[in-house]
Amino acid sequence: MSSKAFSKLQHPKPPLLLFSDYHTHPQGHRVQRFTQALLQPWADSARRMGLTDIAFTDHDRYHAGIDFDEIERLRQKNPDLRIRAGIELDNDPIHSAAGRNWIEKHWDKLDFVLGSIHFLDRADQMFDSVPDGGAQFEGKNVDAVYADYFRRVREIAATGLVDCLAHLDLIKIHGHRPSADIGGLVNDTLDFIRDRNVAIELSTAGWRKPVNEPYPSDRIVELAMEKGIPFTTASDAHSHAQLGDSFPRLAQRMASFGIPQVCTFEKHKRSQLRL
Ligand SMILES: [Zn+2]
Ligand SMILES: [Zn+2]
Repeated sequence: MSSKAFSKLQHPKPPLLLFSDYHTHPQGHRVQRFTQALLQPWADSARRMGLTDIAFTDHDRYHAGIDFDEIERLRQKNPDLRIRAGIELDNDPIHSAAGRNWIEKHWDKLDFVLGSIHFLDRADQMFDSVPDGGAQFEGKNVDAVYADYFRRVREIAATGLVDCLAHLDLIKIHGHRPSADIGGLVNDTLDFIRDRNVAIELSTAGWRKPVNEPYPSDRIVELAMEKGIPFTTASDAHSHAQLGDSFPRLAQRMASFGIPQVCTFEKHKRSQLRL
């Protein structure tokens, strides 16, 4: 064993322990009215995974299922957990206008709003549906698709209704890569995000997708760090069994970047906490 390897054994870097998951879908992909039967398994799963702070962020098209009284009941039953009332605001051309209205109406009851781009030119299909959404890239100039996507990201950040942007480079989901440098493509958008005081998430969901890498990519994380943009940690779980998915791997990634803190939200007020 080399002396270097030996000293590593003597002084192992303590692993970061992630405690918060700010992207979860208790309703999955349909309206399911919040009940204790629906929500308690998420609290149980959080405890099992060592998480103490979770946000429910169902898609805005399912806002009819969200029940703040049920969230409050869940909090009372699980006082060891912080449970945030949230929502994922999409750019769904059919449903998100109603979603925005709902968010404005319930702003004071919500802790956290995610902003997401899932739609490009087609109103009837999320480009990130796997595998069908990949067809939306056929015959297109990938650089132009990326530019259009980041324009839409700026648009949703500009609504003033989002605390954090989800899966910032979701556009790579099917593996399409721009020929231009991603840093150059995204730099203005990151400045825009910083100026709006919006956070971005470090998401493990991309590890479960064809692209097989987390959101956002290394270069974007580096740029965001330089600009002082804060991060949440997120799994985008669509089942309680996915809560905190691949968090040990994400913790390693954050340690390698030297990201020592994570942010949380209560009634849209952001706190930075050291890991
Ligand atoms: Zn999403
Ligand atoms: Zn989501």
